[in-house]
Amino acid sequence: MVMGDVTTGTDVLVIGGGPGGYVAAIRAAQRDLDVTLVEKDAYGGTCLNHGCIPSKALIHAADVAHEAGTAEALGIHADPAVDAAALADWKDGVVDQLTGGVEKLCKANGVTLIEGTAAFSGEHTARIAHGGDGQGMESVEFEHAIVATGSRPIEVPNFPYAEEAVWSSRDALGAETVPDHLVVVGAGYIGMELSTTFAKLGADVTVVEMLDDVLPTYEDDVKRVVRSRAEELGIEFSFGEGASDRRETADGIEVVTETEDGEESVYAADRVLVAVGREPVTDTLELDAAGLEPDADGFLETDAQGRTDLDHVFAVGDVAGDPMLAHAASREGIVAAETIAGEPAALDAQAVPSAVFTDPEIATVGLTEAEATAEGFDTVVGEMPLRASGRALTMDETDGFVRIVADEPSGYVLGGQVVAPEASELIAEIGLAIEMGATLADVAGTIHTHPTLSEAVMEAAENAMGQAIHTLNR
Ligand SMILES: Cc1cc2nc3c(=O)[nH]c(=O)nc-3n(C[C@H](O)[C@H](O)[C@H](O)COP(=O)(O)OP(=O)(O)OC[C@H]3O[C@@H](n4cnc5c(N)ncnc54)[C@H](O)[C@@H]3O)c2cc1C
Repeated sequence: MVMGDVTTGTDVLVIGGGPGGYVAAIRAAQRDLDVTLVEKDAYGGTCLNHGCIPSKALIHAADVAHEAGTAEALGIHADPAVDAAALADWKDGVVDQLTGGVEKLCKANGVTLIEGTAAFSGEHTARIAHGGDGQGMESVEFEHAIVATGSRPIEVPNFPYAEEAVWSSRDALGAETVPDHLVVVGAGYIGMELSTTFAKLGADVTVVEMLDDVLPTYEDDVKRVVRSRAEELGIEFSFGEGASDRRETADGIEVVTETEDGEESVYAADRVLVAVGREPVTDTLELDAAGLEPDADGFLETDAQGRTDLDHVFAVGDVAGDPMLAHAASREGIVAAETIAGEPAALDAQAVPSAVFTDPEIATVGLTEAEATAEGFDTVVGEMPLRASGRALTMDETDGFVRIVADEPSGYVLGGQVVAPEASELIAEIGLAIEMGATLADVAGTIHTHPTLSEAVMEAAENAMGQAIHTLNR
């Protein structure tokens, strides 16, 4: 269809159909606003297409293969073979099911969907370029706009993603073969999740990291478990080295690294996965046409409702900065939509959980002990090591712990750190406790199903109160 230069009007223009944008669009439509959502690539954004969902599908598959092949102690002997192409097909099927669902939900809620690339052309207008031959531009006039254009992987000099041997996380998740040797640059959460996955699928993995440990934002005892399990899987770590250059070889690539003192090392690989962080997508939006300016790093600054410097333009998700997580993007989208609908809505960033789907998983919410103390609380901490959990023993998964952080005089739960299988699920209980103003006694007094890992949350609360049954009290 040739669109010509048609102009349409809408109450809310949402730019970007990831978990920030599509959730905002649906909530705004639920509030009887006329909503137009523009997406240039695929509904569901990074999360559904190239991030959370495909990575968790591969992680699950890698876990199945690894567990089956390492269960001799349980009397199970197997040597699973991984058909990487079939695995990729299955993972793509999961993605397609979810992205198709997003499109259907948007339509069913009355959201107008436009496929194209949007850029501002004025304070209340945007131009949308349609892809493909014979298609043109259209203009949209809007009362309010929600920018939800997300982020993209940062490129390291000399490691262009255009090169076949250089993978972004998106390339790695789209791979149909498992490399024999994979070098991963960066030991943040994406680097750690994918190095664990490829190691379990059979690759020899080396991780190169400029800092002196994995997962820089996590507490030492949290990351220690994950790092030592990764080493048990055969992953080799080189800390204090930054990737500086690459050389193409007949078999793949050589990754040259450099320490601060200029000392070089060389790692041979079939592929190098660069996972050094993500940057916001704001440079293609012609923000100045709307009268907006991003910060020095390209992010859009927002208030508690997601408003930018312009009252009628909101920004949600990765483009608005930390925490760059899908569930935070969705919450921000809901708050922005409800604010536009005239409702009292605001972000409460106190209790945004985060999870790393390594082996074992890590999940945190709220304050750490050090943060709580620094904020002036009279902090008390309770812990339950997994080796004391009956359920953990039955799963042969005893590395890790559940920790709960609270204010001693009032008992209010302030935070939690979980290192355990399904930590990403267990953390929800601590998040709910924080959100509801629950105390240690509330958590300890809630009857938990036996035998489950969730009992460890209850035990950690009891431990903080000096009343644990299955661990020695502090
Ligand atoms: C490998 C990986 C694993 C991850 N795992 C997790 C996880 O387990 N849990 C978690 O919470 N988070 C995870 N994340 C992060 C998560 O994917 C992001 O935080 C989330 O997708 C951000 O949502 P968003 O809506 O802000 O942006 P995005 O999901 O990036 O969506 C932005 C959309 O905007 C579109 N767009 C951009 N510019 C334009 C334009 N000009 N016009 C029209 N459309 C445009 C893009 O095509 C894209 O579809 C992961 C990320 C990666 C890369």
